[in-house]
This record gives sequence, structure tokens and C-alpha cells, in this order.
Amino acid sequence: MSDMNPFKIAQAQLDEAAAKLGLDPATHELLRWPMREYRFTLPVKMDSGETKIFHGYRVQYNAARGPTKGGLRWHPDETIDTVRALAAWMTWKTAVVDIPLGGGKGGVTCNPKELSEAEKERLARAYIRAVGRELGVHRDVPAPDVYTTPQIMAWMMDEYETIMGHSHPGVITGKPIPLGGSQGRGDATARGGLYVVREALKLRNLDPKKTTYAIQGFGNAGQFAATLHPEILGGGTMLAASDSRGGVFSAGGIDPHALVKHKLETGSVVGYPGTKPITNEALLELEVDVLYPSALEGVITKNNAERIKAKISCELANGPTTPDADKILHQRGIFVLPDFMANAGGVTVSYFEQVQNTYNYYWSLPDVHAQLDRRMTEAFKAVHDMHKANNVHMRLAAYMVAVSRVAEACKLRGWV
Ligand code: NAD
Repeated sequence: MSDMNPFKIAQAQLDEAAAKLGLDPATHELLRWPMREYRFTLPVKMDSGETKIFHGYRVQYNAARGPTKGGLRWHPDETIDTVRALAAWMTWKTAVVDIPLGGGKGGVTCNPKELSEAEKERLARAYIRAVGRELGVHRDVPAPDVYTTPQIMAWMMDEYETIMGHSHPGVITGKPIPLGGSQGRGDATARGGLYVVREALKLRNLDPKKTTYAIQGFGNAGQFAATLHPEILGGGTMLAASDSRGGVFSAGGIDPHALVKHKLETGSVVGYPGTKPITNEALLELEVDVLYPSALEGVITKNNAERIKAKISCELANGPTTPDADKILHQRGIFVLPDFMANAGGVTVSYFEQVQNTYNYYWSLPDVHAQLDRRMTEAFKAVHDMHKANNVHMRLAAYMVAVSRVAEACKLRGWV
């Protein structure tokens, strides 16, 4: 299945949930496809004086529960099918955390590493000139994703406001704070993951202060998970962490803040004093209470699922576990906190940003944290109740919660 086109995977995941829920055929067919999609060419003047034509996309997958929401990816491999799949997953993600938004996604096929800052700005503005009329706080709200940044969001917001002729900060989220960004966006993904880990530990009767943990992928999400684990749980010992260059392990524990500093200074976790090297593969198989896959998709497969010894796997990365592995982990009693629930903290704080922009009144950091905690805890409870009631693994339970919510909204609107 991992070789399949990502949109076919997204459809297959929906099909499984639809069958389990006994969804009627019309609703099922409606949810298998994007409601609307745009493809456009973007002529951009390069610094050399030549004009280059880029291909851009925006998919509005389903708006039954509210305006569509989802990031913009700038990537050489971007295709309409990856954007469709990601837009479908955003639909389920916003539904599982019960925020009043639908799912969307966009992208540009390009290699941002080859673009100057000025070329990036012209590409950002061209994107908004092409599709801006279809965006808006009540229609569709983009955000940063792979290789797009708060600065790119700022240029896009400026272009949109210039076209519309009025202030409209909520058209895009992930903005810099002086332009209407929210407090708490930076660590929101990992923080949301920690709130659901806290709930899972309670159910498993594990003392959070005594937990051990390991992080695969010491990037944005992984570094915040490393430092927030002891902060939110009141304790815990990090035994290992890794990045693309390798990993480090210490049975006595690693200070997460010192490791972040080392990574900033040297570009990698490798070589951190007082630790032994560990491969990425061995890290996944460590005996820890909580494993945080925070790097890539497809790292836990049928080939290593039998050897995973963590009690809880909190998926901050998208798609780290293959469908075959999911079944094995479930049979072995490993508690998986599935990606689109566990990493939904980012989109939830993006939603808070949109709410604050609409009020034109901004929340304090403790207010953002309290609201995020409530949403994540409620999402965990709904998914766990579904998991128990139907004896299905947590990912299927999360799909069932999300799909039933979107299906209900479609029905109430009289679409099906
Ligand atoms: P990032 O680029 O900041 O970090 C990725 C880390 O993974 C880097 O440290 C990199 O060295 C490491 N890595 C790369 N290849 C690896 C390998 N083969 N083995 C081990 N480590 C490897 O990215 P990020 O923003 O932290 O995102 C990580 C994952 O989390 C992605 O799947 C992303 O889609 C998901 N995610 C992130 C957010 C967010 O807000 N940052 C939100 C939702 C989902």
C-alpha cells in the first residue's frame, strides 16, 4: 500500500472507516473526492530577467463543517494527487479535534532551495493573484507547510489585502506575531501531542514522572516534544534522540535542553557528550514508555512492528506507521496515538489565530495553552471511546470519529 499514489491511500483509509460505520453510498462517494480543486500556472520573473512558469494547486476537499483550511507546500515532487491526499487528511484532522473548519491544501511544484528571497516573494504574490479570489476567512484559509514560512505567509497576506483593498489578516495563518500571528504556534504540534500522551498514560496507569522516552527526528516537532515531555508531565527521562545523520543514546538519560543547544551549534544530535551512537532503526526498537516518531513516513512497517517495545507511540510525523504495522501493533497492545489526532495541535492553534484575527483581540499564551489542552483532551476521549466501543485500532477509531462528524454535517446540509 505504501507504493500507492497518496490519494489512493487516502481513499482506501476512508473506505475502511466508511465500511465500519455503514456509511450510505452517496455520502461515501461524496467524501472520496475533493469538493473543488484549482490548478494554475504562475509566471514569475526571476532575478536573471527570464520568466519561469510554475505550476500551482489548491484543493478544497470538504467544507461541510466550515471554511477549508490547510497548508501550502513548495516542493519539487508536489503533484495534484499529493495535494488531494493532504487535503483529505486535513478534513479528518479538523473534524477529529472538532474545530469548525473543513480540509484543504495547496502547493507549488518548485525547488525553494534554488530560489532567492526576492523570487520567493514574487512566487508568493503570484500564487495569491492566481487563486486569492477563492480564499478568505469564510472560504479557505492557507497556512505554512513544507518549505513555506511565516515570511511567505506575510507576503501572501499583503498581496491579498492589496487586491481586496481592506485589512483581512485571517485569510492566512502562521503569520509572524506582529502581523496577527498567535502566541503558542511554534510548539503547538508537540504540545498537543504531549496533552494526548498525558491522557494515554492515565489510562495505562503509568506514572508520568517515571516515564522514559525516545525521539526519532530531532527537528521542529521532535525538539519541542523532547523539552515539553518533562515540562507537561512533571518528569520523564529521554533515553535517545536521532536525526538524519544518526542518533544518540544514554541509559542514564539525556538533558533535552542541552541536546537542543548541541543540535543548534553542530547541526546534529550526533556526538553529544556522554552518549553512545544508536541507529535510527535501533532507536525505534528501544524499550521506552513513549516513542515519538517525528521524522518521516513509513518507518514502522511489518518488518519491524514485532520488535517495537514502546508502550505508547505518539505520531508527531505524518504517516510513520504503515497499515500492516498498525494491525501488528494493535495485536501486541501497543497504544498508538495516530498522526492526524496526535499532531493536530498545529492546526488547532492556526484556528485560534483565525479566531483572534476576526475579533481583532489577542489571547495570552496561557489562554492559548488552556484552549489547546481542552481540544486535544476531548479529541483523545472521543477517539478512545470509539476504539473501546468497536474494538478497532486507534487510527481506525480516529477515522471513524472524523468521518462520522463530516458525514453528519453533509446530511444536515441536505447534500446527501
Ligand atoms: P523538520 O524538518 O523540522 O524535522 C525533521 C527532522 O527529522 C530533522 O531533524 C531531520 O534531520 C530528521 N530526519 C530526516 N530524515 C531522517 C531519518 N531518515 N531518520 C531520522 N531522522 C530524520 O520537520 P518537522 O516540522 O519537525 O516535521 C516532522 C514531521 O512532523 C513531518 O512528518 C511533518 O509532516 C510532521 N508535522 C509537523 C508539524 C509542525 O508543526 N512542525 C505539524 C504536523 C505534522
